[in-house]
Amino acid sequence: MDLRVIGCHGGETPRHRTIAFVIDDRLAIDAGALTSGMELKAQFRLEACLVSHAHLDHVRDLATIADNRQQNGCPPLVIAGTKVTIGILKKHFFNNLLWPDFSVIPSAAKPAISYQIIRPETPTLVAGYRVRAILVSHTIECCAFVVEGKNGALAYSGDTGPTERLWEVLNETKNLRGMLMEVSFPDEQQRLATVSGHHTPTTLAADLAKLKAPKDLPTLLYHIKPSFQARVERECARLKGVNLTVCAIGDQFLL
Ligand SMILES: [Zn+2]
Ligand SMILES: [Zn+2]
Repeated sequence: MDLRVIGCHGGETPRHRTIAFVIDDRLAIDAGALTSGMELKAQFRLEACLVSHAHLDHVRDLATIADNRQQNGCPPLVIAGTKVTIGILKKHFFNNLLWPDFSVIPSAAKPAISYQIIRPETPTLVAGYRVRAILVSHTIECCAFVVEGKNGALAYSGDTGPTERLWEVLNETKNLRGMLMEVSFPDEQQRLATVSGHHTPTTLAADLAKLKAPKDLPTLLYHIKPSFQARVERECARLKGVNLTVCAIGDQFLL
């Protein structure tokens, strides 16, 4: 699998972009930077976007990519998520108020976007990949994804604090090549991390210890808040028994 980091931060500045990853040029995971971080041709090549949850730092560029694609006659971009997440997007985002309803533009027969519901825990085909959604622990419904292709599986944590079911599933997943894992705040901001459903390096280490062999799993960290970038990186560098890499914009990993 070819994994590209389009945006990997829990906030935005000219040097930080909100969350978006792309697998093999065709499947996006979250949409926080799909237009701010990709040229038009790359936007047009996408077939689907997995959406972990409806927070703006994960969905905002669905607005602009829908507009760009419909102007160029692209096939519908499949937006895949749980029933709750898709329901929020329909009611509060593509609602003809905040943004036009691109599920019927330019026409209901060939719209710019279409929705695909993924039931948690049920393997579902999305853009040719076998995808499982696992509910995690955030302030609104949010899911992790396990994405399996021909050459192995990649896990994506979504936004989460300490959680259980995800680690059970990953311990049973064969061919797991790597994991995109959130960490947002430094340890001194633990209270804020807890109330907002995010990890600090300390809770991250405790959760990774729920894996049978955390050292064997390449773990790619994302969602660090720009205000705390250096401190979170320093604290993560001190963690033992894990295999961590901090994602940067433009990174490419072959898993
Ligand atoms: Zn969130
Ligand atoms: Zn987020």
